[in-house]
Amino acid sequence: MSALFDLTGRIALVTGSSRGIGNALARALADAGATVVLNGITPARLKAAEDSMAVDYPEGRIRSCAFDVTSDAAAAEGIAWIEANVGPLDILVNNAGIQHRVPMLELDVSDWERVISTDLTSAFLVGREAARHMIPRGSGKIINICSVQTDLARPTIAPYIAAKGGLRNLTRAMTAEWAASGLQINGIAPGYIHTEMTQNLVDDEEFNSWILGRTPANRWGTVQDLAGPAVWLASSGSDFVNGQTIFIDGGMTVVV
Ligand code: NDP
Repeated sequence: MSALFDLTGRIALVTGSSRGIGNALARALADAGATVVLNGITPARLKAAEDSMAVDYPEGRIRSCAFDVTSDAAAAEGIAWIEANVGPLDILVNNAGIQHRVPMLELDVSDWERVISTDLTSAFLVGREAARHMIPRGSGKIINICSVQTDLARPTIAPYIAAKGGLRNLTRAMTAEWAASGLQINGIAPGYIHTEMTQNLVDDEEFNSWILGRTPANRWGTVQDLAGPAVWLASSGSDFVNGQTIFIDGGMTVVV
């Protein structure tokens, strides 16, 4: 049974993995045996993440490739570099993303486009480039990191909601075109995750009690909660799972 979830010998790219959820997902895939390529746009931060992870995985299984996921040319160069210098890419996690909070009436089109480009177009660009290499080999796993905002709206984050909703349908579109070539493309939609970045929200009594009341599991998620689903969707254990978006949200999106 454990062989189903073993990623030994597989090569994975996790975009936006110099920190945050992406870094936790990279660690989960490395824990399952994968060689992992970290990515970000800030070279110094990416190098620091690579050095820090290399201490925990000393077998040379941690690599890095800095590129901007919103650039068609940079995505093509990045994937080509991985294929030439690390090996054939088996797993792509489209995780890089940004947020921008402002009421829609005050939202500049440039900020709208920046969020759509980073949170949605990037998955098309990097996914298409990865698929160009995976399809001739007849196998590959793509995991698109969505959000509860894939399904639910809140004020002040319109481009994020549009992008994350679009990402679920892009997951389906990729499935429609690439599943017959042996690729599985699925989404993971994390709920509210307790990280360094959300510590201020956890500490905010009013917001914290709203989250607990709104979540059937009555707690915040942790990055460890995302590890199992990510390894499953990256492994042979999910070979007939196609085009699904799995909500890891303690049940938030199934209740009102
Ligand atoms: P962070 O802000 O902690 O990290 C973002 C990462 O994306 C960094 O590694 C950053 O690189 C990278 N990045 C940003 N823009 C680009 C770009 N143009 N090209 C390449 N890399 C880029 O993000 P989170 O961990 O909070 O979020 C990660 C994903 O999870 C996002 O898609 C987000 O929407 C989703 N998510 C997050 C939740 C949460 O609670 N935090 C909940 C649900 C979903 P650099 O360090 O170089 O800037």
